[in-house]
Amino acid sequence: MNTILHGIELECMKGDIAKQPDMEAVVNAANAELMMGGGVAGALHRAAGPELAEAGAPMAPIKPGEAVLTEGFRLPNDVVIHCLGPVYGKDKPESELLQACYWNALRQAEENNIKSIAFPSISTGAFGYPVEEAAPAAMEEIAAQSRNLEQVEKIRFVLFSSQDLKEYEKALSRL
Ligand code: ADP
Repeated sequence: MNTILHGIELECMKGDIAKQPDMEAVVNAANAELMMGGGVAGALHRAAGPELAEAGAPMAPIKPGEAVLTEGFRLPNDVVIHCLGPVYGKDKPESELLQACYWNALRQAEENNIKSIAFPSISTGAFGYPVEEAAPAAMEEIAAQSRNLEQVEKIRFVLFSSQDLKEYEKALSRL
């Protein structure tokens, strides 16, 4: 599903965040230590190689809502923007911290002249954020920021399951 909002192309698709060769940046649903993990972090670190964790180490730990940038190493992308999402029920207020991830990731992209960026569904795996709440929060933040973007031209959500894709498409269609 594709939509143009304030001149920015917004897209939702099912797929693997580590296999997005046409995007300049991919976002990692990172852990605070910026280390290899499960889910998204596992897939990105495996594909990028051990240099990704070495590059992140001097910037760790990061706090919920923060985003930091490294190069992509063996990934097909120039850069990885690492975001620490909130743990649902622990890091509060959850929706503000989740939206801060998207805001900070887009700010990093803008500062680094990045034209295309792919996001996973931050916090909805190991961090337990219900996808039906996370999807509209993410999409509303992207929509709010889209009018301020000068470098980014394309934003893609890469969802792992059909159910998650449905939630993000629903949120996108409600913008
Ligand atoms: P968090 O710790 O922020 O919750 P996870 O990586 O555990 O992050 O999960 C976030 C979401 O990403 C979940 O919906 C999960 O199913 C999905 N996911 C897991 N692996 C991948 C992948 N390779 N590409 C895209 N999405 C993925």
